Amino acid sequence: MNDSFDIIIVGGGPAGAVCAAVATAGGARVLVLERAVFPRDKVCGDCLNPACWDVFDRLGLTDAVRALPHAILERVSFVSRRGHGLEFAMEKSDRGEIAVRRRHLDALLLHHAMQSGAEVRQNTALIGAARKAVGWEVTMQRDGATQRARARFLVAADGRNSTVARFAGLRAPRGTSRDRVGLQAHVPLPAALERTVQMRWLEGGYGGLAPVGEGLLNVSLAGRPGQIESLKAWAAAEFGAIDEWRTIAPLARRAFPAARDDGLFLVGDAARVVEPFTGEGIFYALRSAELAAAALGEVLGGRCSTPETVRAYRRQHASLYRGRLWINRLAKAAVLHPGVAETFLKLAARRPGWLRFLTSKVVGPLRA
Ligand SMILES: Cc1cc2nc3c(=O)[nH]c(=O)nc-3n(C[C@H](O)[C@H](O)[C@H](O)COP(=O)(O)OP(=O)(O)OC[C@H]3O[C@@H](n4cnc5c(N)ncnc54)[C@H](O)[C@@H]3O)c2cc1C
Repeated sequence: MNDSFDIIIVGGGPAGAVCAAVATAGGARVLVLERAVFPRDKVCGDCLNPACWDVFDRLGLTDAVRALPHAILERVSFVSRRGHGLEFAMEKSDRGEIAVRRRHLDALLLHHAMQSGAEVRQNTALIGAARKAVGWEVTMQRDGATQRARARFLVAADGRNSTVARFAGLRAPRGTSRDRVGLQAHVPLPAALERTVQMRWLEGGYGGLAPVGEGLLNVSLAGRPGQIESLKAWAAAEFGAIDEWRTIAPLARRAFPAARDDGLFLVGDAARVVEPFTGEGIFYALRSAELAAAALGEVLGGRCSTPETVRAYRRQHASLYRGRLWINRLAKAAVLHPGVAETFLKLAARRPGWLRFLTSKVVGPLRA
């Protein structure tokens, strides 16, 4: 089979699903390839930055997201390795911060893409992508059978370990033993953490805890590969035996160019990853996907050339992150240097306004 589309999107997570829905609504013929079968959980803290609501509004999905099982997050607490703690109410925003399991959110968004008219092939992994005289040809595999499809544009929405980026010749520096690994599981929710997000510094790493509804707590931990067993032991002592951990690596990676003149566009984590515990990744995935779909609509509608739209999307993508990256650097410094965090928490106990200000910058609404 050799199907032909305007756009092939690899990855049906938040970035891929939203890019597909918006592009299809604009009249494009879109194919989405997704390796997994939804619903599926994934390594994530499950917290939605309030800026996501504007995107859900534009998609007409706000009520549907609110109807998913979720937890409302009202308080944030920090606990250092030595047990120094600080807790306060989150800054109020119009529609507040919630946490919702990715198995629910991602299934809703991908279903919306299908309803909008995108063709979605689940259980289908990209195994090859090659530039052709016009557009791209992708090779995919499903249940051992190989298929091919072509499109004028190829969108990488396949997350931080993007296969598309690899086939397109974009290389992140090779991992080192200093790379961190992320671990995640859901456990029964302890009453003390209802409505509270907690950030903890641990022997061998750090973690974030968030209620997610359905009587569950999201436990997300991060550390160097050699420290993973001690982090799991901490979680078992705290929450009881955990059978199913999901893992992901690396946590940090160089950003790639968000688009190229050969018709390759990157959205969400495939383009750029941010420090996970700032709770912004899903928003960047949704918003970059909207921007890429709108840009592609301009070329497909004949209103501008590919190079013009590539430049426009790259500018918009860069400005989405501009002014926010210092928060990521600060968050990274805090998680990687527990001694600094310890001192900071002690000082902040005397002047909680500082920490409240910084937290509002991290979990407060972003500007789209
Ligand atoms: C430990 C941790 C905690 C986090 N906590 C938060 C948080 O609380 N809030 C927040 O906003 N962000 C958080 N993030 C970041 C967030 O998870 C990501 O930014 C977000 O998932 C990016 O969405 P995406 O659609 O770009 O990629 P993904 O969600 O990774 O989706 C990519 C999709 O592509 C599919 N895929 C991959 N390869 C292929 C292939 N070859 N063929 C076909 N399909 C493929 C995958 O199956 C997947 O469904 C966290 C991240 C980590 C690691």
